[in-house]
Amino acid sequence: MDNFRDLYQQLILDHNQNPRNFREILDTDLFLDGHNPLCGDRIKVFIRKEDKRISDISFTGSGCAISKASASIMTTLLKGKTIDEAKKIFEDFHKMITTGEADLEKMGKLAVLAGVHQFPARVKCAALAWHTAMSILNDKKLDIVSTET
Ligand code: ZN
Repeated sequence: MDNFRDLYQQLILDHNQNPRNFREILDTDLFLDGHNPLCGDRIKVFIRKEDKRISDISFTGSGCAISKASASIMTTLLKGKTIDEAKKIFEDFHKMITTGEADLEKMGKLAVLAGVHQFPARVKCAALAWHTAMSILNDKKLDIVSTET
């Protein structure tokens, strides 16, 4: 149970209870619903781009503590980043939660989610907001992003 308790470290609890950037962005057409049917997580991500930079990013929706905390931390990290920087952060994060391999110091706050790789069902919770954001940045024409497609 120790590993499982690690999953719910203080930072995850804090971001779950007080999610950052938990709001809609009204003056953008860049938004997308993400759905993880296995857990019931539904996260909607909003992005505003200026030039090649993410000038604002937010989310709404409901889900488990892991999915909400991951979305909340994501918005704090990606705001102000260029599209290329955001994609690189996603690659490092995705590698960390699927394989456990990561430079934890470099991952910063995201390091609290490193333990997720030991729980395959939870990987989808942690990745949901990120996959949704990346689909927006990659200009994918989707109505919804699902972890089960
Ligand atoms: Zn979940």
